[in-house]
Amino acid sequence: LRLDIQNAEKLRVISELTSVFAHEIRNPMQVTRGFLQLLDDPDISESKKQYIKISIEELDRANDIINEFLSFGKPTVDNSTKINVGKQLEQVVNILENFALNYDVKIKKDIHDSCWIFANPQKLNQSLINILKNAVESMPNGGNVWVACMSTEDGFIKVMIKDEGIGMTRKQLDSLGSPFYSLKEKGTGLGMMVSYQIIHSFKGKIKVNSNQNIGTEFTILFPQLP
Ligand code: ADP
Ligand code: MG
Repeated sequence: LRLDIQNAEKLRVISELTSVFAHEIRNPMQVTRGFLQLLDDPDISESKKQYIKISIEELDRANDIINEFLSFGKPTVDNSTKINVGKQLEQVVNILENFALNYDVKIKKDIHDSCWIFANPQKLNQSLINILKNAVESMPNGGNVWVACMSTEDGFIKVMIKDEGIGMTRKQLDSLGSPFYSLKEKGTGLGMMVSYQIIHSFKGKIKVNSNQNIGTEFTILFPQLP
């Protein structure tokens, strides 16, 4: 119980700080982007044009990362509505298609119709992106990731995200979802925490199966809407 309270308190502080950070970091980035555009003058060399283009693209990418991870901290206006999980999964796969290509990872889909749940589409996307991103990152030498959604006979919508990556030990699995837990050199340790938070807020349940050097499978169950 004491640990739960400590975690709840950590979460509250993080979610307050993140909205401040997101705002404070975006401003200087926008100023930098503006000046970069001004530098892009017709007289400059092709190579300098290229550097400016790359700089702007990288700034935009950083902005995407902020959106992805830190929108969690936004004050929650609840935009929950009836949404099609299959459609959201398609979007999420599209967003991460290029990212996966960089890892030589193929994403395979098995998306069934009529996967209706009550949720906020942006938040659901964010939670799925974070899980799918980890699946891709777990395979530094490439491989396959499978994403699926279907309805179950007992009234749930089941989402599955499965990889054939490095997997986790029992102990690592136990730490999954706690704030700042990361084994990656440049990890944030926020992705899973954010995903769990979001999924629980939609009354979803998460089950993770993982075996070292075999892979990891996330199963998420949401209450189904008619
Ligand atoms: P980050 O990805 O920034 O490290 P996350 O919260 O997304 O933070 O994940 C926390 C940790 O959980 C990762 O560093 C990794 O060790 C482990 N993990 C998460 N998903 C997987 C997966 N699909 N396969 C193996 N390890 C994973
Ligand atoms: Mg992650």
